[in-house]
Amino acid sequence: MPAVDLYRPSEEHDMLRDAVRALAEAKIAPFAAAVDEEARFPQEAHDALVANDLHAVHVPEEYGGGGADALATVIVIEEVARVCASSSLIPAVNKLGSLPVILSGSEELKKRYMTPLAKGDGMFSYCLSEPDAGSDAAGMKTRAVRDGDHYVLDGVKRWITNAGESRFYTVMAVTDPSKRSKGISAFVVEEDDEGVSFGAPEKKLGIKGSPTREVYLDGVRVPADRMIGEEGTGFATAMKTLDHTRITIAAQALGIAQGALDYAKGYVRERRQFGKPIADFQGIQFMLADMAMKISAARALTYQAAAASERGDADLTYLGAAAKCFASDTAMEVTTDAVQLLGGYGYTRDYPVERMMRDAKITQIYEGTNQVQRIVMARNLLAAKEGTR
Ligand SMILES: Cc1cc2nc3c(=O)[nH]c(=O)nc-3n(C[C@H](O)[C@H](O)[C@H](O)COP(=O)(O)OP(=O)(O)OC[C@H]3O[C@@H](n4cnc5c(N)ncnc54)[C@H](O)[C@@H]3O)c2cc1C
Repeated sequence: MPAVDLYRPSEEHDMLRDAVRALAEAKIAPFAAAVDEEARFPQEAHDALVANDLHAVHVPEEYGGGGADALATVIVIEEVARVCASSSLIPAVNKLGSLPVILSGSEELKKRYMTPLAKGDGMFSYCLSEPDAGSDAAGMKTRAVRDGDHYVLDGVKRWITNAGESRFYTVMAVTDPSKRSKGISAFVVEEDDEGVSFGAPEKKLGIKGSPTREVYLDGVRVPADRMIGEEGTGFATAMKTLDHTRITIAAQALGIAQGALDYAKGYVRERRQFGKPIADFQGIQFMLADMAMKISAARALTYQAAAASERGDADLTYLGAAAKCFASDTAMEVTTDAVQLLGGYGYTRDYPVERMMRDAKITQIYEGTNQVQRIVMARNLLAAKEGTR
């Protein structure tokens, strides 16, 4: 029997989209401009998402979560990002931070950490990058040294989304420096573990409502049972996680692009020049058509990747990278065109497309830059049988 077809959203997926859209319009959109302007955490969005069990929909039902499939998770993120990209990092990074535990953690670890996450009693962050280890993440220096029934962690993690807001942190650290990526292990670190502290929030171009800070680990003693999986498997878990979560960044990009197109469409119908709405000019119509066409293609690829994630298909690594890369490039193009369609007004903060264009940029950078996605895709396609991709 063929596997469930998730390429096309089911009726339940469509209902979920309607519900998230209504919530996002009512409870998240009204604060998006202020969150950006004041560079503050979108607490209103957080509270609305938690109240509606939409902050971490991917958590399996046995731990009190919604047990949403990969496509449902994409739809939640897409709809939140359509009105506020910063807020969409709440469900997205909760998945990123906790997926290593879901994929590789012990049953005990899953119970201990997925239950509060599902309840909204603590967010999860993902700590891979370091000041000198970005694209080459395996070059990390943070150490975890065994000491009896504990590990002692020392190092600096950089660019950590929701740092300071999250209660739980999945931290990748070197347990055996002689083995490079195979000498890296993953741990759950808690916000109030002694020796954990945070740097000042980064002053960023976009997603200003999403705090990005360094995480300092200064002799942090964590019990050995907080290791995720076996010693030396942390890097593999971190990469496997990204295969699934790059699709959530594609969803974010898709949402930003859709938000920009929707706004621009309304604007060109209203704005009059040369005695008629600018929507009557074919030059404007062609731009709108191109924007919509690219979004449709990005959505198809993102949903295909979500289906592969749900089924655990062999081409997930390729599809996750392709979806993230294509959707984020689309978001950058579409938001730039949206600013263009609003003319001078689009270039000001009085209209949301300026924020959307700034927010779109990050989707080409994090969870691996788009050059890195192309490396991943090329490696995969060169190893694949001819005619398969
Ligand atoms: C706002 C924000 C939030 C983030 N959130 C998180 C988070 O929550 N957790 C986390 O662990 N990390 C996070 N990151 C880190 C992010 O994943 C890294 O910034 C990204 O992987 C790139 O690393 P880098 O910044 O060190 O750039 P570098 O690796 O120094 O790259 C610089 C440039 O060189 C290019 N380059 C590098 N190597 C190659 C190559 N082999 N071939 C071609 N080009 C190459 C890159 O594409 C890029 O254009 C975040 C970053 C930002 C800005």
